[in-house]
Amino acid sequence: MLLKKLFNLRNTLSFRLTLWYALIFTLTSLLALSIFYYRISRITMENTDEELIEELNEFYVLMQEGGVGQVTVEIVLESESEGKDVFYRLITSNGDVLKELNMDVFENVAVSGSALNDLRGNKKYIIETIEVPGHDFNVRSIYGVIGPDIIFNMGLSLADKDEYLAIFSNLIILLMVPLFFVAAMIGWFLAHHALKGVEEVTRTAIEISKGAIDKRVEVKRRSHEIDTLANTFNSMLDRIQSLIKGMREMNDNVAHDLRSPLTRIRGIAEMTLVGNGSMHDYSEMAANTIEECDKLIEIINTMMDITETEAGVSQFESEPLNIVELILSACELFDPVAKEKEVQLITVLPEHLVISGDKSKMQRLITNLLENAIKYNKEGGTVTISVKQENQRVNIQIEDTGVGIPEEDLPHIFERFYRCDRSRSLGGIGLGLSLAKAIVKAFNGDIRVKSAFDQGSSFQVILPE
Ligand code: ADP
Repeated sequence: MLLKKLFNLRNTLSFRLTLWYALIFTLTSLLALSIFYYRISRITMENTDEELIEELNEFYVLMQEGGVGQVTVEIVLESESEGKDVFYRLITSNGDVLKELNMDVFENVAVSGSALNDLRGNKKYIIETIEVPGHDFNVRSIYGVIGPDIIFNMGLSLADKDEYLAIFSNLIILLMVPLFFVAAMIGWFLAHHALKGVEEVTRTAIEISKGAIDKRVEVKRRSHEIDTLANTFNSMLDRIQSLIKGMREMNDNVAHDLRSPLTRIRGIAEMTLVGNGSMHDYSEMAANTIEECDKLIEIINTMMDITETEAGVSQFESEPLNIVELILSACELFDPVAKEKEVQLITVLPEHLVISGDKSKMQRLITNLLENAIKYNKEGGTVTISVKQENQRVNIQIEDTGVGIPEEDLPHIFERFYRCDRSRSLGGIGLGLSLAKAIVKAFNGDIRVKSAFDQGSSFQVILPE
């Protein structure tokens, strides 16, 4: 069980981030400390070399001023004062030792042939690090010509410095282990803190998958990325919820609108069957049934038209379309209905205006809006259709002096099957404006409505040229 938990933990983002953080932090620290160690060892060596060169120069001057005798005296004095860690030698250019002091510890350190060779090549001095046979420390040794056929050789034990550097390097290695754990703890804290928001989104998603569609992720101003994720997730949920709500409402509406004609058909049939069943009754039943069936067919066809227009599957012709001609023929078509309702149709149109689009869809759009403007008008009212062309856009406005649309209904009138309460007695299926909106969208245009209750409405269609 514990093993399985550990194995699962291995695959978590927190674990990986922690591991990466700890590794990068430890390696970076190791690199920084190594550079520091290298710099310290370089400086130590440079100081030793400076010390050796200074001594060589002193003996060179002494040789010029007092000869070998003076040099020998000084070597003796220095060897006594410096202690066992320094040795001194005077050598001929052939490598024969003239004088050597303090060689107890360094007795096996031979004269370096390569250093003598290099000096013959006119080098001022040679400095080298050599191992002391039989001991575990090194010695830094200088060779320099101080007089004719006299080479000064001095060696400094590096035991103290090596020891001090070894302590330092051991400390660095030892530090790496606690450093790794401290870095892992910081990494775990950071990863956990950074991913807390993601965990909350995941928790909410799990709750939603179990049915709590109303749940939302709390936006707590943690970090911009997590807040953006939470906001995006929440707005996606809002959208899904409103789509689900819309679909539910549409299903209810479809069911309701299909049920009413079907119930009526059934009622008519039942009454005819139960009654005496004269020929007249049967023909009336047939006529009523045809009427209700027509309504059903209209609902189904309009629904399919809307779906197809929205999905763009229907054949959308793009042909030159004289919008003025199209509006005039729609007015001609609706003239008898308008006259019957004593509604006056007024047109304010340019002489000629051609746009490109699908003729039958455009006819559908204009007739739906015109039909509503007449249907929801008052006796003696007017419908004004005007077309303007501005900023490479065509603006079609259908304005009526009818019953108007209550403010609370305005946001819903383009929804499928939505009908304002006052319109229910007037017939209609509540799909005309939904289809109009789908068509306008397919034309890449926009449809807007303004209305004052009991005064009239104005529908504005804006289309690209
Ligand atoms: P309907 O078949 O009911 O006319 P629509 O989708 O065309 O369906 O219109 C939806 C509702 O919007 C109508 O039922 C009506 O209440 C309202 N409406 C549409 N056009 C107008 C208008 N010009 N004046 C007043 N109300 C309107």
